[in-house]
Amino acid sequence: MAAKLLDGKALAANLKEKIKNEIQGLKARYGAAPKLVSVQVGENPASEVYLKSQRKNAENLGVEYHLEKLDAAATQEVLIKTIDKLNKDKNVHGIMIQMPLPKQIDAKLISRYITPLKDVEAVHPQNMGEIVFGNAKILPCTASSCMELLNSIDGLKLYGKEAVVVGHSEIVGKPLALLLLDKFATTTVCHIATGERGRLQEFVKNAEILIVAVGKAGLIKGEWVKEGAIVIDVGINRVEGKLVGDVEFDKAKVRASYITPVPGGVGPLTVAMLMKNLVEAYKIQASLFKA
Ligand code: NAD
Repeated sequence: MAAKLLDGKALAANLKEKIKNEIQGLKARYGAAPKLVSVQVGENPASEVYLKSQRKNAENLGVEYHLEKLDAAATQEVLIKTIDKLNKDKNVHGIMIQMPLPKQIDAKLISRYITPLKDVEAVHPQNMGEIVFGNAKILPCTASSCMELLNSIDGLKLYGKEAVVVGHSEIVGKPLALLLLDKFATTTVCHIATGERGRLQEFVKNAEILIVAVGKAGLIKGEWVKEGAIVIDVGINRVEGKLVGDVEFDKAKVRASYITPVPGGVGPLTVAMLMKNLVEAYKIQASLFKA
């Protein structure tokens, strides 16, 4: 069997078209476009691609976008003051902080200073906590991209399915596991210690839904993939100048029923999800603050 490709690019294009129309409607109703502010401390080549894509997507969708640049030596206090100013600015609807932050700044602490209403990456503990209760309106972008890919599969019911998430980071693995649980998938989370105990293969072999977010090329061997499994590869690795995921794509695709390519799977959806969150944040703020 050759797996069908889960085309993140096409899904993202579709979603963005809907977001664009919704933004036009919001502009007509409330008189202003949603505004997203990205805060960057110092320069980082890894962030540049993402920043470019944010700006381009904002332009295409009719979002007002501003990049607030702080000096690489900016203190934590200066960053907190900047966030506070943006929190109070009624014209700003979404705030995101570019990672990685320089050493003098504690990223986990900083996430607490963004008002949850404007936290379009869902990094604030309150937004994370809402996921536990199945109430979240704003979801971490990569985790929700994975759910969007699963939702795109015709007739797929997650109820009772064996789902395995490899990777337990705050931005991907942990929230994703909660989202899968919310759909009643029987969810197992594997991580570095699973790998170190040599148990990864055993868990992966049982996965009807396999989602991998580690950042190690070839970690998941193609022959481990269960016949007919759905495979979502979040990993991004550069190998000999080419981008590849964490799963051995060529070997996995002959066993899986659906698989994401890297690039072109999860990645393109992430920015679309960010914009979806911005629209959601705008709508919540508009309904709260309308005179
Ligand atoms: P992270 O470094 O925060 O977490 C990595 C996770 O992998 C940890 O839970 C760790 O325990 C686990 N791990 C490490 N080695 C392992 C092993 N041998 N066996 C099992 N588990 C192991 O990473 P992250 O920020 O969650 O990102 C993961 C990958 O996803 C990276 O390649 C990143 O570039 C990519 N990513 C892609 C997108 C996208 O939009 N496509 C977004 C975010 C992250």
